[in-house]
Amino acid sequence: MNRTNYSFSEKEIFTLLFRKKTCPYCGSSKLSRITVKKFKGKGKSVIESMNFSSQIDIYQGNFVYQCTKCKKKFSLQSIVDLNNSKDKKRSKANTFFVIQSIIMILIILSIGISSNNIYIIIIFIPSIIIYYYITLFFTNNN
Ligand SMILES: [Zn+2]
Repeated sequence: MNRTNYSFSEKEIFTLLFRKKTCPYCGSSKLSRITVKKFKGKGKSVIESMNFSSQIDIYQGNFVYQCTKCKKKFSLQSIVDLNNSKDKKRSKANTFFVIQSIIMILIILSIGISSNNIYIIIIFIPSIIIYYYITLFFTNNN
C-alpha cells in the first residue's frame, strides 16, 4: 500500500487549470506531463478510523514537463515563472499603447478645436480607439 501527496502553490494550480503551458526553452506547447514520486517515509493508512491500522509508504508527488520538440525537462514552477514574465511584458506594452492612444486623441482634439473642424474629431477618434483595440488583440495573443 502507498499514498502520494501533492502540494501545489496557488499559482501552480492556476497555471495547471487555466494557463497555456509552453516550453521555456523553445516555446512549443506540445508538452508531456510526467509524475515524479519521491519516497518520504512510512505513514499510517487513511482508513485507520475503521480500526484498520497499517503502515503505508508515503510519496511526495511532483509534476515534471517534457517538451516533445526539444526534449528538455522542466518543472511546473518554471512554467509559472515564464508566464509571470510574459504578463509583465504584456502589461508594459499595454501601458505604452494606452499612453500612445491618449496622446493621439489629445493631438486630434487640439487640431480639431483649433481649426474649428468637427469632422477631424469624428473621423480620427474612433480610428484611434480601433487602433488601440487592435494592438490589445495582438499583445494578448500568446
Ligand atoms: Zn522545448
